[in-house]
Amino acid sequence: MKYIASVCPRCGKASAARASAKTHQCPYCGAAYSVDSSTILLVGTAREVREAVVRHNSEK
Ligand SMILES: [Zn+2]
Repeated sequence: MKYIASVCPRCGKASAARASAKTHQCPYCGAAYSVDSSTILLVGTAREVREAVVRHNSEK
């Protein structure tokens, strides 16, 4: 299964979602948003996505 690292349009935090997901709920602020309209950092394995999420969230 493929995963995506998606950036929440409300709070700017990245989180992992399934690549097949249409919508995703941010675990940080609770916003539900359309994956298609969000910024996708990376598409890959669960491990790659987890690393991209950690990197993004520790940058600012
Ligand atoms: Zn959020």
